[in-house]
Amino acid sequence: MTLAVPSLPTGSDCAPASSKREVLRERGQREVFCGLTGIIWLHRKVQDAFFLVVGSRTCAHLLQSAAGVMVFAEPRFGTAIIEERDLAGMADCNEELDRVVDRLLARRPEIKLLFLVGSCPSEVIKLDLSRAAARLSVKHAGGTKILNYSGSGIETTFTEGEDACLAALVPDLAADLSDAPSLMIVGALPDVVEDQFLRIFAELGITTVHSLPARRAAAMPPVGPNTRFLLAQPFLGETARALEDRGAQRLDALFPFGAEGTTNWLHAAATAFGVDEMHFRSVIAPGRERAKRAIEHSRSRLEGKTITFLPDSQLEVPLARFLATELGMIPVEVGTPYLHRRHLEQELALLPEDTLISEGQDVDKQLDRVRATQPDLTVCGLGLANPLENEGLTTKWAIELVFSPIHGFDQAGDLAELFARPLRRRDVLRV
Ligand code: SF4
Repeated sequence: MTLAVPSLPTGSDCAPASSKREVLRERGQREVFCGLTGIIWLHRKVQDAFFLVVGSRTCAHLLQSAAGVMVFAEPRFGTAIIEERDLAGMADCNEELDRVVDRLLARRPEIKLLFLVGSCPSEVIKLDLSRAAARLSVKHAGGTKILNYSGSGIETTFTEGEDACLAALVPDLAADLSDAPSLMIVGALPDVVEDQFLRIFAELGITTVHSLPARRAAAMPPVGPNTRFLLAQPFLGETARALEDRGAQRLDALFPFGAEGTTNWLHAAATAFGVDEMHFRSVIAPGRERAKRAIEHSRSRLEGKTITFLPDSQLEVPLARFLATELGMIPVEVGTPYLHRRHLEQELALLPEDTLISEGQDVDKQLDRVRATQPDLTVCGLGLANPLENEGLTTKWAIELVFSPIHGFDQAGDLAELFARPLRRRDVLRV
């Protein structure tokens, strides 16, 4: 087993009712990244963590190419490559893995949290990474905490990697024994966005607010029956379940996209913490107005235009809601790899009745629907975008929506612009 570390780059007012709408479920060939992709944003968020993928050269190449243009510091992720002799059973993979971890931690003592990340190859050879993590945790006790989760394409898609990572953190969180309620923001947000939310909560008078994940391993939040949590991302089903198992209570809300989604999300916390309604409105009014003004810039480009989301990041339902309710777009089909219906009830209720909601993917059938409906804009993965553009359709890369700051009032204008830009480009090219 060898360690491959990537080289540095060169280069509310919404009060929706519950939704009982039909969902088209499809199982077939799918075109989605695997859960390893989450490492790209997670390693930047937790600044003393390292993500060690136990995988193949393919996994190493995926990480290198996905992160190659985005990493601007010494990388805190790498791949312990399972070689042919490991696969052939000629070497003891556990011993090899221990050696790789020992070498890594000796060379990088600043690593306080190490994730062993499972991949397709480690699953195929049934390498038990939870036992490896337990064994190595004892060995490196006092210096580095070692956890594991799976990012394999067999088990996870794209953003589910973050869900698996955060869910792995939860059993390890300290018990919150205080009597006072605390708020937890769950989901990796860019620091600048997280700081904006923390400032608003402070202005609202909600004093104890934690984030999961925290920016440092030692600062991970405590959890207990007095924890109220807000999901910042719609793809955190396992994490939510793990927190609820520890007694925490989820606050049901829209996701914080756009002026209305952000207002509703903040309002859920304000209500749970007994914030006076007038005070709430006065605190959020400036941000809400800023967001509404910023969104208006894109309205003329987007209003009345049809849009289809192919399943990719699991952000599809709340983004379609934002585009439909705040910009007048018409979602034709909203596909998502998995539909966490319990977390998305309010979002689904705000989508137009005739929007097709689909879960899972049978890519050929789905592409036939796209060709039949000819939406003005199709949001899809990188591999489908070029062929669709070639057929004359206008596309938006779904991955950009994951890597760009899009949550909250101050990002609402940029979020709308991300959808307006391809349509503007199309119009320019046609002229
Ligand atoms: Fe490919 Fe599986 Fe490695 Fe992901 S985990 S890069 S799908 S081999």
